[in-house]
Amino acid sequence: MAREFDMDRRAYLKTVGVAGATTALAGCSGGEDTQVIVPGTSAGFPPFEFTEDGELVGFDITLAEEVVTRAGYELGEWSDISFESLIPSLLDGDIDLVAAGMTINESRQESIDFSDPYWESNQSVLVQEDSDFQPGSVDDLGDARVGAQAGTTGEGEAETLVADGTIAGDALRRYDNYTLAVQDLENGNVDAVIIDQPVATTFSSDRAVAVAFIIETGEEFGMGVRPDDDRLGDLNGALAEVKDDGTYDDLVTEWFE
Ligand code: GLN
Repeated sequence: MAREFDMDRRAYLKTVGVAGATTALAGCSGGEDTQVIVPGTSAGFPPFEFTEDGELVGFDITLAEEVVTRAGYELGEWSDISFESLIPSLLDGDIDLVAAGMTINESRQESIDFSDPYWESNQSVLVQEDSDFQPGSVDDLGDARVGAQAGTTGEGEAETLVADGTIAGDALRRYDNYTLAVQDLENGNVDAVIIDQPVATTFSSDRAVAVAFIIETGEEFGMGVRPDDDRLGDLNGALAEVKDDGTYDDLVTEWFE
């Protein structure tokens, strides 16, 4: 499926992509040839980024490739690292772009810049599908062991529950990635996982877990770049095009339906 889409995209670029590419080149400062954008992500967050038959795939992977190439740049090789390492790696220059379902928020904006938003999400609380434990709100989490991926806004929600006394400090379990957290939930080592709603939906269709309730956080995902990266305007222009011409909707169909 991914491959079929690629072919369509190449055909599309051949016919109408030239104008976009020219605009992007004109937008580059003084003919510098920093044209490769090295992307970074953190797999284990389906359907945004995950590995399938050893290959990194997902909505963010295809979207980033589409946006970067349409903006007139070359996409470098993906770096698949822990979520917590993404911003440090970006700032160190090991990667140039974060495409990892990353929520735009003020604390991150102190160190990096974000593209225009490309997704909206809330947090979900996942529990075992057939368990007696079916909480209806955070007030029911009092005795629960709660898991989240380290460095995420889901972990932030869990930390708030610790801070306001809803759950005990040692009830919070941090994981390197959400796949491990959901595995531990299935195995009964944790009672609930706080995770972005679209990813919770994907896990609940593949595994013996279910969404118990939603925490309305009103998050928006953006792609991250270094604050001094003047290619952001080109990337936002390309993202707008991708949304306008139906490519974005095709990607949603491909990865979410
Ligand atoms: N959207 C969440 C965040 O930005 C989780 C992202 C992720 O786990 N890939 O923190």
